[in-house]
Amino acid sequence: MPNRSSAPHTILASIAMSICFLLAISLTFAQQRAPRDPAEPQQAQPHPKPLPRPTSAIARKSVDVKSMRALIDQLVSCGTRLSLSSWTDPKRGIGCGRDHIVARLNEIAKASGGKLQVVVDKFDSTSERTSGKPLPLESVYAILPGSDAKLAKTLFIVSGHYDSRPSDVMNTEADAPGADDDASGVSVSVESARLLSKAIASGASTNRATLLFAAISGEEQGLLGGYRLLDWAKQQGYTIGGMLDDDIVGDDPSPGAPHRVRLFSGNGEIDDCDSPGRELARAIEEIDGRENIRMIFRVDRYGRGGDHYPFYKAGLPAVRFTEPLEDYTHQHQTPRTENGIEYGDFAKYLNPSFLGDVARNNAEALGQLAMAPAPPTNARLTGAVTPDAKVSWSAEDDPERAGFEILWRETMEPRWQVYDFAAGPGETVLRGVSTDNHFFAVRAVGKNGARSIAVPTEIERRPPPLPAGTKQ
Ligand SMILES: [Zn+2]
Repeated sequence: MPNRSSAPHTILASIAMSICFLLAISLTFAQQRAPRDPAEPQQAQPHPKPLPRPTSAIARKSVDVKSMRALIDQLVSCGTRLSLSSWTDPKRGIGCGRDHIVARLNEIAKASGGKLQVVVDKFDSTSERTSGKPLPLESVYAILPGSDAKLAKTLFIVSGHYDSRPSDVMNTEADAPGADDDASGVSVSVESARLLSKAIASGASTNRATLLFAAISGEEQGLLGGYRLLDWAKQQGYTIGGMLDDDIVGDDPSPGAPHRVRLFSGNGEIDDCDSPGRELARAIEEIDGRENIRMIFRVDRYGRGGDHYPFYKAGLPAVRFTEPLEDYTHQHQTPRTENGIEYGDFAKYLNPSFLGDVARNNAEALGQLAMAPAPPTNARLTGAVTPDAKVSWSAEDDPERAGFEILWRETMEPRWQVYDFAAGPGETVLRGVSTDNHFFAVRAVGKNGARSIAVPTEIERRPPPLPAGTKQ
């Protein structure tokens, strides 16, 4: 019975082969994993124990998706909300949209015990898309004033635009339902106002900085409401702590939905130093989790704009939330059917589950950012051509601050890691750390565990020796 005796040998041989194979695979992985770079620093890397973040104040189940959808339906019922349409007709036109938003925010303000203040900002603006004529515009802001005397002058904004457009951006007669673009973003802004004013009124959260929930007009006419909001904030003496633009955040038709929302942030224009918008995006991802936020390192989708752009161009922290994959038959289209394809931005295409996720992620991020200390200023990196990196920064006194986290990352890594903790501002020497192999940043940490956005260190610009007459 030869088979009997050979069978165990065959089994043993295949086990041995499998082990060899697994060893080879793990060796290959080990070789790939272990970086063949010198340890940096060589020894005694600090291991600070991070303060835990605040516990989440906004539960996903507390998001009122039904009310969000009701507001979207009311906005769609206005027929068109083109910025060139009627401001006075209560039934059709952009004025009808404004009225529904003001009414909903007033309900929320009443429930907040008067903490939330509703403001209608009237202004004129001009662009090519107004035929060069001054266009009367109105934006709606709901404001939750900050509790801290200094930080109340810092503004964290969430914004959607309530104007819509048909295929022809000058046509006031055609319907422009604009359910996704951008009644969805308005519903996120308004629901954030409800969630946060409720959390703050109940004591589940605090806002040291001021929160502003915006529904703005004139976006399709050339970001007119976005530019105005920036000017308005400056006129009121506010500093912009962060601006979260939600534009096209309601639809998620791909199989497997709900997916992560995309969060766009621009690179900025300073060498070796990310933009404040990028730092805001990283902060939001840390607060909401990688499972909820898909960071896209790009200011916006190609050929498109949004109300975060004026803030980004002014060097301020501003980002854009947008759904995972857009359906262009629904955007900027006069409703019609052509060759069997239905065009139009209708509420029936919205995904309530995805929309609710976006509202929760916005509200939670805003809540944590508004309870954090001010970010440090004047962050500097020195120590070039020495064995140690030196990081320094300034900050005003803040009794609610626990200290500062010094952050670093490999130059090709997307996210910061905490390197060390410092109780106060000034200079910290990172012994045995080269200035050249990592990027560095600093952020403030509150005693409540809330973090400011990171401030990347800037270096003193010292060009290398170049041939005489070379232009920098
Ligand atoms: Zn839009």
